Amino acid sequence: MSARETAELLLLLGRLVQAEGYHGELSPAQWMALRFFARANPFSRTPSAFAEFQATTRGTASQAIKALETGGYLVRQRSEADGRSVSLRLTDKGHEAVARDPFDVLVRAVDSLDAEEQTAMHHALHHVLTTVAASGPHRHFGVCQDCAYRGGETCCSSTSATLPALECLLFGVAIEPEDAGLLCVHFQPTSEQREDGHRE
Ligand code: SF4
Repeated sequence: MSARETAELLLLLGRLVQAEGYHGELSPAQWMALRFFARANPFSRTPSAFAEFQATTRGTASQAIKALETGGYLVRQRSEADGRSVSLRLTDKGHEAVARDPFDVLVRAVDSLDAEEQTAMHHALHHVLTTVAASGPHRHFGVCQDCAYRGGETCCSSTSATLPALECLLFGVAIEPEDAGLLCVHFQPTSEQREDGHRE
């Protein structure tokens, strides 16, 4: 199979999953926004971060956000990260909608692969994503575990001796365990990722 055929499969998959979004209460753009705010870390729950994530304009991103606020799926509040900027979070209705996300059809399809295939697929797609992101002007979102700004892996607290304590070296703050796996607009790939596509 040629690289082009494989790349076309990725494109077809993306289109098919996006088409699934037309079924139900939200448009595909609104589903993308709701998913983003469900997965974004405290530094990234802003309209501008969502616009970056979607590689779209602030105006287009704002339309989807406005519709979700009007529908009662999202609510606006002062950012916990800096106390000044706007932060958007899911309401109970938003969380209930995410639990019925049509994207789950893709999650189940991936889950039908065995563990070895899932690991190989994860590394391969991570490499492709990193390579494509590095070749364009759009920001690459990622999680703390893979970020060059991640610090402080060990912890000596008597209450959490077995838990790694992560720190964000960019902002000089501790990363709450529940935030470590969330997407960040300030993510910076490590040099190993830029060369190899994934960390060893
Ligand atoms: S370590 Fe990286 S991904 Fe995590 S909060 Fe800091 S900048 Fe964002």
